[in-house]
Amino acid sequence: DAHKETLGFQTEVKQLLHLMIHSMYSNKEIFLRELISNASDAADKLRFEAIAAPALLEDQPDLRIRISADSAANTLTIEDNGIGMSRQEVIDHLGTIAKSGTAAFMQQLTGDQKKDSQLIGQFGVGFYSAFIVADRVEVFTRRAGLAAEEGVHWESAGEGEFSIATIEKPERGTRIVLHLKAAEKEFADGFRLRNVITKYSDHISLPIELPKQHFGDEKDAPAELEWESVNRASALWTRPRTEVSDDEYKAFYKHVAHDFEDPLSWSHNKVEGKLEYTSLLYVPGRAPFDLYQREAPRGLKLYVQRVFIMDDAEQFLPLYLRFIKGVVDSNDLSLNVSREILQKDPAIDSMKSALTKRVLDMLEKMAKKEPEQYATFWKAFGSVMKEGPAEDFANREKIAGLLRFASTTQNDDSEVVSLDAYIERMVEGQDKIYYLTGERYAQVKNSPHLEIFRKKGIEVLLLTDRIDEWLMSHLNEYKGKQFVDVARGDLDLGKLEAEEDKQEQEKAAQEKADLVKRIQEVLKDDLQEVRVSHRLTDSPAVLVINEDDMGLQMRRILEATGQ
Ligand code: ADP
Ligand code: MG
Repeated sequence: DAHKETLGFQTEVKQLLHLMIHSMYSNKEIFLRELISNASDAADKLRFEAIAAPALLEDQPDLRIRISADSAANTLTIEDNGIGMSRQEVIDHLGTIAKSGTAAFMQQLTGDQKKDSQLIGQFGVGFYSAFIVADRVEVFTRRAGLAAEEGVHWESAGEGEFSIATIEKPERGTRIVLHLKAAEKEFADGFRLRNVITKYSDHISLPIELPKQHFGDEKDAPAELEWESVNRASALWTRPRTEVSDDEYKAFYKHVAHDFEDPLSWSHNKVEGKLEYTSLLYVPGRAPFDLYQREAPRGLKLYVQRVFIMDDAEQFLPLYLRFIKGVVDSNDLSLNVSREILQKDPAIDSMKSALTKRVLDMLEKMAKKEPEQYATFWKAFGSVMKEGPAEDFANREKIAGLLRFASTTQNDDSEVVSLDAYIERMVEGQDKIYYLTGERYAQVKNSPHLEIFRKKGIEVLLLTDRIDEWLMSHLNEYKGKQFVDVARGDLDLGKLEAEEDKQEQEKAAQEKADLVKRIQEVLKDDLQEVRVSHRLTDSPAVLVINEDDMGLQMRRILEATGQ
């Protein structure tokens, strides 16, 4: 029997479907990109599995996607001869969301359509986007390697449930039939369809075919449907840079990154010599919802000689560059390469340092030539870049040059000041970079520690990001200028301090010796030492941290974790 059953969607799927249908309306044609993208992934997976098991290709070694519309029936069909799905895979992939962090994502949703559609975009719309334009979707699929009788039919109206049955399906792969909503007839129209498909398929590396159009007499048309490819079907990264348009680069980004906004920048390079590989790296314009989740997938799409090997190959970039998306295609790695092998291969280490440098160079260039783009980048990924100096010792100076800080020269807490700009503004005799850390901008901005600097017209960087203290514990100097925390120890202003100031301070210290002693007596359980200081011009007293004691932020973090 057909072993037909009706199953309920996972709650999260129901929520996602509902939201998608109601908030993705202005972006509805992206469903085609998602379905083409999935078909392309399915072809990649089949090619990969066929390396070890060539029989999987059966008698159909040529992989392709076919798209056709039936305007009378108001249906749109997308068919691939890729890896296909087994019954269990259909239930798992088209009934649930397997992504880590799904629950956290759902919690972020606000009910505000505009904000939510942004969030959904970051989350990835995927297969379920079919329901933006269809009120019923059918999937016919058979996994490569399984018998024709083990085909699967899945059907749903995109509400609470779906049905699943076993069918006979001689051809391997997946056919998706969208029963279009009455208002979405346009997608069953040949010309409109061709337009949209061209837009979403030029960068796809396998042929996308549409029924050949016969103009003129109906009876001239052949009995059997003929197909023609509408894209050039070559892997985009294998083409010379000069032959790829910006629009193609952007479209390819959307495919690899599952994003539907444009990237901020990209870098496409072919490396020859001892190691041969091509890389195409993108800087996204916004952070994914799971940027700070440990288990979130990250890394590049790995190809070996143009054969897809794996998604999320994380060995090619350091953790602090985990937001970079793209492709690396190696000519030297074996087709059998695994994650374990990648971890041990010394060639990977040298690729990693070269790719890291490429990314840092791309960011440097963006900072110099497109400061507005860079500001967007910093807002989205600045906190992650701050992990850099601790993780990547060799590139510390380069990363430091990319950092941006809030500062006493600015009117608000936005991080816009680079260390180079700071150095340019240093006053005569200044040879250090001064900074102050704290929990809130409002608090550090008015800190008594800043009084002396304000008086002398010296800029101080104001660091209030949670990670800033950790960052500064890994940065000692930049371009030969030492970093100095103005809240620590005996502040030595060096040449900036006039001789009279010092004498005055010593005099005051002598005069007030008795007072200091008395304060010390009273507060001896709470303080290590009381000193007369030149730090303050307006406030009577300030708490100072010893040179090598832990900073306040770090103390709080440790206290919060119970240490
Ligand atoms: P994603 O592509 O990000 O994994 P989707 O929602 O687009 O998410 O697809 C979910 C899963 O369904 C895919 O990961 C894949 O396992 C399966 N799938 C979807 N379309 C196809 C297809 N055409 N052929 C084989 N598997 C598919
Ligand atoms: Mg997908």
